[in-house]
Amino acid sequence: MKFIKILPEGLIDRIAAGEVIENPASVVKELLENSIDARAGNIEIAISGGGKEEIVVVDDGEGIPKDQVELAFCRHATSKIRSWEDLLSTGTMGFRGEALPSISSVSFMEMTTYYDGEKTGTRIRIEGGRQVFLGPAPPKKGCGISVKNLFYNVPARRKFLKSDLSEKRRVSEVIRRYLIAHPEVSFKVSIDGREANNLAASDDLMARLESVWGDAVTICLISLESPKIGPLQIRGFVSKPESNRANRSEIYFFVNKRPVLERALFGAITASYGRSLPPGRYPYAAIFLDIDTPFVDINVHPAKTEVRFADEGFIFATLKKALDKALALPVDLTFRSPGMPESFQRLQQPPQPGFAARKDLFDSREFAIRSQPPAHFTPDEPVARQPGIESPPGYAEEPFLQIFDTYILTRLNGELVIIDQHTAHERILFERTLDNFARSGSPSQKLLFEERVRLTPEEAALIQEHADLLARAGFDCSSFGSDEILVSGLPQEMSRSAPGGAIKDVLANYAANLKEGQESKKALAAAVACKAAVRAGERLSRPQMKGLLDGLLRCREPYRCPHGRPTIVTLSRNDLEKIFKRK
Ligand code: ADP
Ligand code: MG
Repeated sequence: MKFIKILPEGLIDRIAAGEVIENPASVVKELLENSIDARAGNIEIAISGGGKEEIVVVDDGEGIPKDQVELAFCRHATSKIRSWEDLLSTGTMGFRGEALPSISSVSFMEMTTYYDGEKTGTRIRIEGGRQVFLGPAPPKKGCGISVKNLFYNVPARRKFLKSDLSEKRRVSEVIRRYLIAHPEVSFKVSIDGREANNLAASDDLMARLESVWGDAVTICLISLESPKIGPLQIRGFVSKPESNRANRSEIYFFVNKRPVLERALFGAITASYGRSLPPGRYPYAAIFLDIDTPFVDINVHPAKTEVRFADEGFIFATLKKALDKALALPVDLTFRSPGMPESFQRLQQPPQPGFAARKDLFDSREFAIRSQPPAHFTPDEPVARQPGIESPPGYAEEPFLQIFDTYILTRLNGELVIIDQHTAHERILFERTLDNFARSGSPSQKLLFEERVRLTPEEAALIQEHADLLARAGFDCSSFGSDEILVSGLPQEMSRSAPGGAIKDVLANYAANLKEGQESKKALAAAVACKAAVRAGERLSRPQMKGLLDGLLRCREPYRCPHGRPTIVTLSRNDLEKIFKRK
């Protein structure tokens, strides 16, 4: 038997307090959570006038016993927890006992409910907090609630509601979170009399995502499955970088199935995808973090969309690791859907502002390199002398073609491959530097002429703080007053760069990588790799191109540069035949 009781005073004081009903979306959220807590298998939602006119939520959950219906509308009355200890470990969405009284005090609310085993159901009607009807109703399993004229008696609140269209959008956003969180529940959603969703229950999250996002998105999803690490297990799906959108609104996080909007979690997404996404683009994601209850506090905010982790750093790092692992995949240009993949569609659209802006990144130095071979890298130089690009071990005699002095085309395993020479070389040097860190450190090349380099205060602070790691990367510097250093050696791969420029560029890049949340060794290895790698616009010889591909194929994660941009893409014969409509 279910018992609704008023929480004891002491406990009420410890529960995060505040108004939860701000708009129609918050009403929908509270009602949906109640239906889910009542273990409903089917939920129907109908909204009209952006929810300002009416919100109806009908479920087939356990319902409320006749003698407790009135109690459910009292403040701090709940059947879900009894004590502080219950609150700490509760698996239910609700626990504050405030939603029904709050909503019913600012609307015309009617509830019809039936509790299994009783003769009849119960109907209760409350207007602006005043009970106007209580009587029997047909014995229909579950609970149905209608909320009309929200805030009719609080004109100030009503005035602050947005247009029907905006409120409708907010309501739909909230509903979507629960559709994704609960594939085991069937949902029917209708908005202004038109069916918006009709989703069958399923044990399969992927099936639910397909009905919410469509199959063009779901074919680009990668599964995120990690074993339980400490108190945390991560599961869910994220889209490959090729499938992306202009805002973050399809990134969902659930902590113990509770939808949350946590900055730190979004940060892990940004850090992992890095530059594999064009500027201003975001992936699709539905990520479930299941955390043992002592390690997460849900009692932070009355709306319960925030949580507090006992160790946020651990959650961030574990999530980032799981994402990094999932994203270490080849870039996929394969045509599997009836429509074209987004990456191709983008190519056909007029350039986005983001791309135009990128042009500015090519500074005059880079154009100079285009027109004449760079001093430190003569075209026909023996391969072994270009650090990081080693002699290839007898590749088949495939042709190699360099186009735009930036991309290398060849054939590998019967497929056309296109390699970005800079990102590929970055990947090779990145892994090599990391391997060197794991051993004794990277070899340093002694400079013929030591150089005094003047530093900004930020650079000086960074060098001081990370002196050890910089030395292990091959930077041989000694301090020379507070804002000057003497550089006597550089990492071998950089030995031909000007020391002052090299160290300043690496420091700037290193600082940026740290800011993005990378771990210090990886952040430094990525910065060194970026500075030392062959640039776009540099002419390469055939042995160098072969060497680059060979080096890349020996990498542990060959498909992306340390920042996540693709290094190599492939097109199969089949893909080409589809492009040219031979098939
Ligand atoms: P809380 O969810 O925090 O307990 P609410 O004010 O939302 O507080 O609901 C009060 C109580 O009413 C719940 O504890 C639950 O017992 C009951 N209740 C509310 N909605 C439903 C529902 N859809 N089905 C069954 N019981 C419900
Ligand atoms: Mg509730």
